[in-house]
Amino acid sequence: MSRLLHRLLALIYPPKCPFCGRVLDQGEEGLCFACQRALPWVEEGSARAVDFCDVCLSPLWYRDGVRKGIHRYKFQHGRAHSRLFGDLMAQCLQDRWKEPVDFITWVPLSKQRLRARGYDQARLLAQRVGEMTGLPVRPTLVKTRSTRVQSRLGQEDARKANVLGAYACLPGAELVGRQVVLVDDVVTSGATLSECAACLREAGAQSVVALTLARAK
Ligand SMILES: [Zn+2]
Repeated sequence: MSRLLHRLLALIYPPKCPFCGRVLDQGEEGLCFACQRALPWVEEGSARAVDFCDVCLSPLWYRDGVRKGIHRYKFQHGRAHSRLFGDLMAQCLQDRWKEPVDFITWVPLSKQRLRARGYDQARLLAQRVGEMTGLPVRPTLVKTRSTRVQSRLGQEDARKANVLGAYACLPGAELVGRQVVLVDDVVTSGATLSECAACLREAGAQSVVALTLARAK
C-alpha cells in the first residue's frame, strides 16, 4: 500500500486501541498509554503448565479490557488487531523462552468455522509472531471434526472430552526432532492446546511451547 493511501486511510479510519476502543493519540502506537499501564500483564516467571507442552506463555491475563479486546478481535476487527496482539506475543516469547525454536504453528479452526468467520485468528497471530521473530510459520495441524465452543462448557472433563481426537497432524508436516511454538489466542482449561501438543509430540516434535495472547486464571 502506498504511503499516501496509508495516511488517507488513517484519517478516515483512525487507529484505535484494541483494548479500550479509544482513538490513539499522537505518539501512541498499537495501544494507548492508559491500557499499557493498566492492563493485567502476566508477571515474568509465572508460566502455566499445559499437558504435552514444555511451557505455556502469555503476556496478559484474560480479564477486563483484554477479554473485550479479544472478543472484538474474534468477531469484528480481526486483521487490524492481529498486529498489536502478535507483537505482544512475540515480545513475550523472546523475553521468556531462550531455547531454540524451529518454527511456529497454530491451533486451526474447523473448515465450517473458518468459512463463517472468514479468517483464522490464531493463524493471523502466528504470522505476526513469525514476522516479528524472523521464525518460519507453518501449518501442521488440521481440525478433523467440529466441536462445541469450549467456553460454553463448564467442567474441565467436559472440555477435554469435547476436543479429544478433534485434531490431527497434516501429512508431511515433518515434525521429527523439531522444536515448535504452538499459537492460540487464549488458554483457559488448556484442553485444546494439550490435545494439539499431543498430536505434535506423537508426530515426533521434540518440544512444544504454547504461546497465547491471554491466559485465564
Ligand atoms: Zn486503551
